[in-house]
Amino acid sequence: MTRLRFEFKTIYAMKTCLECGDKIVGREDKKFCSDGCRNAHNNKINKDSTNFMRNVNNKLRRNYRILSECNAGGKTKTTRTKLMAKGFDFDFFTNIRQTKTGNTYRFIYDQGYLFLDDDSFILVKKDR
Ligand SMILES: [Zn+2]
Repeated sequence: MTRLRFEFKTIYAMKTCLECGDKIVGREDKKFCSDGCRNAHNNKINKDSTNFMRNVNNKLRRNYRILSECNAGGKTKTTRTKLMAKGFDFDFFTNIRQTKTGNTYRFIYDQGYLFLDDDSFILVKKDR
């Protein structure tokens, strides 16, 4: 009985606020010492995900602008070198389409591309 009580006290004393590190008094499932700390913590998390989403959206927007500029006619050939010189980032696209013949097109919205070899590829625009 004495031992159990000791263990409970140890766990209880170790609980600290996730935001400021102060000891938490009260319910065992509490994560923050105050409403202020809980709000500050949640705001930080939301801000991080907003920043991340903004960065991804900026990259997608830039990629889309580059493809639109290079593919004014709706279908054309270009090179990786040219796109990368304009700042194209191949890690960012919105969807992948596989054709029956086994070709894999990557799209940024309605602008797509298909690798022909290491450097050259075809740009296409999806029909609406
Ligand atoms: Zn706190």
